Amino acid sequence: MTLSNRHTEDYLVIGLGIAGLLFCEQLIKNGNSFTVIDGSYPSASKVAGGLFNPVVLKRFRAVWKAREALSAFGAYSRLEKLLEFKCIHSDPIYRRLSSPSERNKWITAADESELEPFLSEQFKPNTHPYLKADFGFGEVLQGGRVEIKDVISAFKDYLMAKSHLAPMDHFDYTQLTVSSEAIIYKGKTYKNLVCAEGMGIANNPFFNQLPIQPNKGEYLKIKTRDLKLEAIYKSDIFLIPLGQDEYLVGATYNRFGQDTTNTIEARKILEDKLKALIACPFEIVGQQAGLRPTVPDRRPIVGTHPHFSRIHLINGLGSRGILHGPMLAEILYNSIEHQKNIPVEMSVERYNALF
Ligand SMILES: Cc1cc2nc3c(=O)[nH]c(=O)nc-3n(C[C@H](O)[C@H](O)[C@H](O)COP(=O)(O)OP(=O)(O)OC[C@H]3O[C@@H](n4cnc5c(N)ncnc54)[C@H](O)[C@@H]3O)c2cc1C
Repeated sequence: MTLSNRHTEDYLVIGLGIAGLLFCEQLIKNGNSFTVIDGSYPSASKVAGGLFNPVVLKRFRAVWKAREALSAFGAYSRLEKLLEFKCIHSDPIYRRLSSPSERNKWITAADESELEPFLSEQFKPNTHPYLKADFGFGEVLQGGRVEIKDVISAFKDYLMAKSHLAPMDHFDYTQLTVSSEAIIYKGKTYKNLVCAEGMGIANNPFFNQLPIQPNKGEYLKIKTRDLKLEAIYKSDIFLIPLGQDEYLVGATYNRFGQDTTNTIEARKILEDKLKALIACPFEIVGQQAGLRPTVPDRRPIVGTHPHFSRIHLINGLGSRGILHGPMLAEILYNSIEHQKNIPVEMSVERYNALF
């Protein structure tokens, strides 16, 4: 079978977390034909809080490539149109300030050119009867939340309706034939293979030498009638309103966690941190865990396999997949289709010595 065969599709995509989904959005936008295979491996995206926040709130620094990342957010608006539901919310994020010196740090940071668009100079005094914040809050601008679990579910339905989604299956690498001419999988021919497997990369023989490591995160879901919050609050943890008096509380970071079981330890840590932020009763109604795909240099990895020009990767989205995903999907697409260079700091090229 050759590429001129009329049954050839442009892309085969493995994985439908945020990385695979946003890459598919590029394919739809540009009119490419494609099929997605998504298995039942744990998905970090389905348990993520969905936050996008352009500021490292521990250190008052702008997140790596925050401005470029936000300027690629048209992808979420296009998804809203395609899926016909509002999935992106520009909610304020209020960072609790713990002392007068932290207030001063905030004022200094808000004056810096890289942070000025993201930090309000006005402090919000704490007037809430159940929030513990003697020194008030600083407001982060241009942050918010994507309803990522619902987007994935609606996108799956869309793909199914358009016959872009293969039946739920694990990608079987023993059934793959790769040449410089084509990708052949289970008798069908594609021009390109895009691997977006999150921590499922451990089973990918083309890329599993890359240093993508799990960092386990856990969230609690709580219910309380007393808070009535509409914004996102941040102390040592994020407190994220979900509606109907429910909130997400989290998340934990554990680089030794290898599985997605809920732990008593994480529950206790999150409960204690929540009690340091709120002073009203709450009920824990859920807990969830996932594995963030992280890279030691804290940069994602996108690009093309050094020896197989038709196999590509988008992974290592770490703890900021919602913010960086649209930009990375666009960069990878433009590299494959238009031979645009990928900056080396995010490129698979920086690990060429491992292949
Ligand atoms: C508790 C927690 C909270 C988080 N909160 C946030 C947040 O608020 N904001 C934020 O930006 N980020 C957050 N993150 C990080 C975010 O979840 C990740 O950056 C992002 O989800 C990674 O997306 P991904 O598509 O690369 O991987 P995944 O979401 O893990 O998706 C990979 C997909 O590939 C599939 N797959 C894997 N192998 C195969 C195979 N062989 N065959 C078929 N399918 C396969 C899996 O089933 C899965 O569907 C959080 C993470 C955790 C754990």
